[in-house]
Amino acid sequence: MPAADAARISARLRRFRPSLTLRLKTLANERRAKGLPLFDFGLGETKGELAPRIRDAAKNAYDEGRTMYEDPAGLGELRDAVVRWLGVESQYGRECVVVTTGAKQGLLNLFLAICDPGDTILMEAAPWVSYQPLALAAGATPRAVVASGGEESRFKVSAVDLEREIDGNERVKVFVLNSPVNPTSQVYDAREFAALLEVCVRRHVYLLLDRLYWRIVYDGKSYPEPEITPATREWLIQVDGLSKNFRRTGGMRIGWSVGPEDVSEAMINLQSHYTSGPAVPSQCGALAAISGIYETELRDELEANRNRIYAVRDRLAPVRVWDSEGTFYSFWDVRACFGGRTPVGKVLASSVDVAEYLLDHAGVVTAPGSAFLQEGYLRLSFAMAPGEIDAGLDAAVAAFSELRRTA
Ligand code: PMP
Repeated sequence: MPAADAARISARLRRFRPSLTLRLKTLANERRAKGLPLFDFGLGETKGELAPRIRDAAKNAYDEGRTMYEDPAGLGELRDAVVRWLGVESQYGRECVVVTTGAKQGLLNLFLAICDPGDTILMEAAPWVSYQPLALAAGATPRAVVASGGEESRFKVSAVDLEREIDGNERVKVFVLNSPVNPTSQVYDAREFAALLEVCVRRHVYLLLDRLYWRIVYDGKSYPEPEITPATREWLIQVDGLSKNFRRTGGMRIGWSVGPEDVSEAMINLQSHYTSGPAVPSQCGALAAISGIYETELRDELEANRNRIYAVRDRLAPVRVWDSEGTFYSFWDVRACFGGRTPVGKVLASSVDVAEYLLDHAGVVTAPGSAFLQEGYLRLSFAMAPGEIDAGLDAAVAAFSELRRTA
């Protein structure tokens, strides 16, 4: 690109990379257009019907003309409901809550509120795909923490790992932790989380806890809540939202953050200038969603789906399927497929190759681990109909069994 053209886009955004899953999406669309079978384990979105109480609250808002500007921080009733939803009403008031356009905006709000150019944003060893671009958009330098426990620890970051990175990097401002983790589906337990938070408090680094999937935790466990003390409260910001714990709510674009007053105020100032708060009818829907008792039926259905994958684990060899403790993702170690020859003679050498083979040969859509900085793995979303899961797994089993060793 000539220099003059390069200057048309900011240096910051020129560093953005197109999503690795884009090519797979194109291939999937081609298959769909040809009427070939397709099993979509790619997209991380809940399915089914929108709950009538959420739909009616949003519809009523339109009917009642609630379509004018409101508080840029979000509706007061919703901000009150958020602290109750998270069970932190004795530690935080509504002034600590910012309602955002999806959880994504909560992340960018925080990065812009606390980072100066050149600050470092630490994130997990297999970070969710948008953390790095959002850090770059805020002018910060993203860096994935190396999990020294490696595969044994399922890429979980320990307090020792975190402190090593704080020591080894310039101006570390924040550590972004997602639990339950997209893509690995691990859940940090209370002790692991407390140790990480202790490091952050002692080193004056913020801990951003992205808890977007916190209601989707399996095996009868409940979400290990962070301990809010006067010390931890200063350094902890929690980001959450509507997209994953309910059915069909991702497009409503509502999220929220809860954190100390000064940081929340900076984020509210920021968003008062660039969104003036999320769409009011969507906020009314969100209020209906998180008020009252949370129905566990979605989680139970997803857990049954997870168990369908567990049931075929042995047949998927040489793939190793990790345990899914939460979220609706299954994480597959496909390194043993590398070097395998497909029926059309291609030798598989990367997670993108394996993902393309599964799609081309079996119609199975997955997300390659390289999108999450972990080469050698695939992520599969199991938020889909049980019949489609079973058919898709059968197709994957058949595809893996057709690989031939090259040496
Ligand atoms: N964090 C994680 C870990 C996610 O998986 C997602 C969505 N896939 C987001 C944040 C963004 O959520 P939202 O759609 O509410 O902006």
